[in-house]
Amino acid sequence: MKTIGMLGGMSWESTLLYYRLLNEQVRARLGGLHSAKLLLESVDFAEIELLQSHGNWQTLAEMMTSKAVALENAGAEMLMICTNLMHKVAPQVAERISVPLVHIGDAVGNEVGARGLTKVGLLGTRYTMEEDFYRGRLKDRFGLEVIVPDEADRDYIHKTIFSELCLGEFKKETMLAYLEIISELELRGAQGIILGCTEIPLLLHQDDLELPLLNTAELHVRYALNLSFGEDGD
Ligand code: GLU
Repeated sequence: MKTIGMLGGMSWESTLLYYRLLNEQVRARLGGLHSAKLLLESVDFAEIELLQSHGNWQTLAEMMTSKAVALENAGAEMLMICTNLMHKVAPQVAERISVPLVHIGDAVGNEVGARGLTKVGLLGTRYTMEEDFYRGRLKDRFGLEVIVPDEADRDYIHKTIFSELCLGEFKKETMLAYLEIISELELRGAQGIILGCTEIPLLLHQDDLELPLLNTAELHVRYALNLSFGEDGD
């Protein structure tokens, strides 16, 4: 088992989920008192969100890179950016470290492929739904057709991620609104839904609907641990 460095705190609500999943999955593999070997760099998310909303991605890339280098210097043998969105700066981070950066998009792409799905809906922040850094990777590496909600629904999802989910507020009415948005995507042919924001699995669960949900935090953890135990990611 390798020591995993986590870039977390974006938000800490989902970093808690990562921490739990990593430890639970190591215990499931090794049994007994075994738990994950982890290092965590946890940021002040208010600073990060401000830079995101000002489009200051260069500064964000530099911040993530310096934290990644610190994790490597502290002994991390592989790294995870514990959010979908911040994979926007993954190429800059990966360039500056010599240990593997486990990409969340690859974890998701592999699982979608393994389930035989070819057309999927994507929910996440506006940047993740609209820009190419995430959708492009799923399309280019895994041949997936990725569809997103319409403008008004993208706006609603983006706003609720930052004004509710990242603050630990999980409301029934918001969950029902997400289900409504998902049923539109299903009508447009989505065979599954990528929960492309690591807080959405805290709001919405597979029990809430029939359509397959792809929990990116969980898939990221499983993929990273496969690599950590010397297996293929998928
Ligand atoms: N955790 C969210 C994600 O997975 C968004 C928060 C952020 O990174 O700004 O995309």
